[in-house]
Amino acid sequence: DDVRNQFVAGTKLGEGTYAVVYRGHFREDPTKLVAIKKMKLNVEYRDGITMDSYREMKYLQELSHPNIISLFAVFTSKDQNISLVLEHLPKGDLEGLWKDSKISYTREDIKAWSAMLCQAVWFCHENYILHRDIKGNNVLIAADNTLKLADFGLARSFSEPGRNMTCNVITRFYRPPELLLGAMHYGGCVDVWSTACVIAELATRNFFLPSETDLQQLTVITDLFGSPTEADWPGVSSLRHWEVNFKSAPPKRPQPLSHWKQRLPLMGEDGIDLLRAMMAMDPSKRLSARETLKHPYWTNMPRPTKKENLPGMG
Ligand code: ADP
Repeated sequence: DDVRNQFVAGTKLGEGTYAVVYRGHFREDPTKLVAIKKMKLNVEYRDGITMDSYREMKYLQELSHPNIISLFAVFTSKDQNISLVLEHLPKGDLEGLWKDSKISYTREDIKAWSAMLCQAVWFCHENYILHRDIKGNNVLIAADNTLKLADFGLARSFSEPGRNMTCNVITRFYRPPELLLGAMHYGGCVDVWSTACVIAELATRNFFLPSETDLQQLTVITDLFGSPTEADWPGVSSLRHWEVNFKSAPPKRPQPLSHWKQRLPLMGEDGIDLLRAMMAMDPSKRLSARETLKHPYWTNMPRPTKKENLPGMG
């Protein structure tokens, strides 16, 4: 109650599957804008909002990084509804950006946005938090063009309908092969795969690995990377969904480097090398978030665009 009274809610900003979002501000400082995200009660939760996810949200309140959305407060109302008080980010999201044909942008802009995203992911992992739902519309843009990774901790409680939820996380297009093959154990490398998809999406102005079904998602991935084998991914044939996917299918060869160059001209050779290392099929061979930041792509020419010069909405 005390917490709730620290904020004043205003008009509705928007509505998603899980929440209604209102504009608001701090009571003692009306210039300090917030977004109040009221979670909907009428969606199917796995087993309510778990103590775990509640703790995770609490923990996020302590996480402070320029590329991660600030969570100022969490409160419950009389009707048991949970509300999150978040940093107000008025310039849309990355998916909206690449979909908007009125906005043109360059390889330098892509490098600047990608750097901010990779730093956000690094900081989460450094603090033992997996995001698990990285995608263009969870990367929001602040008034000063800073990218902010958003929608944390929610993945766990809101997008896992089944009992065997472990591999159901992450929106399909951004889901790495180990999850599609039913791996029960996974780590930060799932976020690194999704991050690479988002960067490739910016560079192509299209979804990078779109599909209609989970089964087709793996087909789309192997069309590009070839079929995984025990030789290049030890243990892959012991994963739960290996047989249904690969037992009777003829093995596929990976697309050559020339395919990547043709498809991602704005990434350059170094950028393509980074993306391919972030999308190693075998999660143990995939770059960690920390390793992504050490790649030569970031320091090679061209330099990333300065934040104040980045194009965007509004
Ligand atoms: P979705 O991501 O499915 O659009 P959300 O519930 O996350 O659903 O958000 C709904 C809408 O509210 C967004 O499309 C956006 O317009 C707005 N919104 C969400 N978060 C913020 C924020 N931090 N600042 C400003 N607007 C926001």
